Amino acid sequence: MKSYRGYILDLDGTTYVGKQRLTSAEDFVHRLKAKGLAYMFMTNNATRGVEEIYQHLGHYLELPVSPSQIYTSAIAAVEYLKEFHNNKSIFVLGEASLKDAVRKAGLDLDMSENAQLVLQGLDRQVNYETLTTATRALLNGAEFIVTNRDQLIPTETGSSPSSGAITAFLEEASQVKAHLIGKPSPSIVEAAIKKMKLAKEDVLMIGDNYKTDIQAGHLAGVDTLLVLTGVSTEADVDPTRYQPTYICSDLGAIDFDNEAN
Ligand SMILES: [Mg+2]
Repeated sequence: MKSYRGYILDLDGTTYVGKQRLTSAEDFVHRLKAKGLAYMFMTNNATRGVEEIYQHLGHYLELPVSPSQIYTSAIAAVEYLKEFHNNKSIFVLGEASLKDAVRKAGLDLDMSENAQLVLQGLDRQVNYETLTTATRALLNGAEFIVTNRDQLIPTETGSSPSSGAITAFLEEASQVKAHLIGKPSPSIVEAAIKKMKLAKEDVLMIGDNYKTDIQAGHLAGVDTLLVLTGVSTEADVDPTRYQPTYICSDLGAIDFDNEAN
């Protein structure tokens, strides 16, 4: 495999699988650290804050990581709002960590139908009243930004509807199309590369989901690695659409030790 200076790793299905540890992935991260290579963890999940992910990766999995190496669709969305919609009032349909991120960024939270922008992520407590307020804001002309459009979220008891299902509800009601920040949009990958201060040809995007991780990397113009420890299988790959640069069974299969750097 070509040597890259920076690696972006998806979390669930790539770095671990739910509550199950993936020693091949953990070893891989330790090897990146030992070689002095840059790496960043990226997730579409906007319900967990950086601190919570940091506790999981750094303390529970004992991976070498700092909070600045964790990038979520919630952070990417808030950075996008700061850059392009800094003076708009924002209705947040999402969980506490998304609202906190908006507040901490100094953006103007407006939980009424007069808000000028609706930011939506997964909200597992969502109710009809909240959906109504968001719909009315959109009907009143608010911009519609979503952290991610994941269809399902895996839980211990089975699949549950994810953020994209709420987006579909609001799009249907308002007929306003949402602007997506998370994967498969290239925005989140491009923003992560910028944070790593690397050129895109020096970065490899690693993920287990062909439709989100690999597509996002492909659209962002970086090389991609599909790892078969999560949701996608080799049969999911459609070479007429886009092809991962590499496919491997697990990250233990990656050997960059005998590479000329
Ligand atoms: Mg994944």
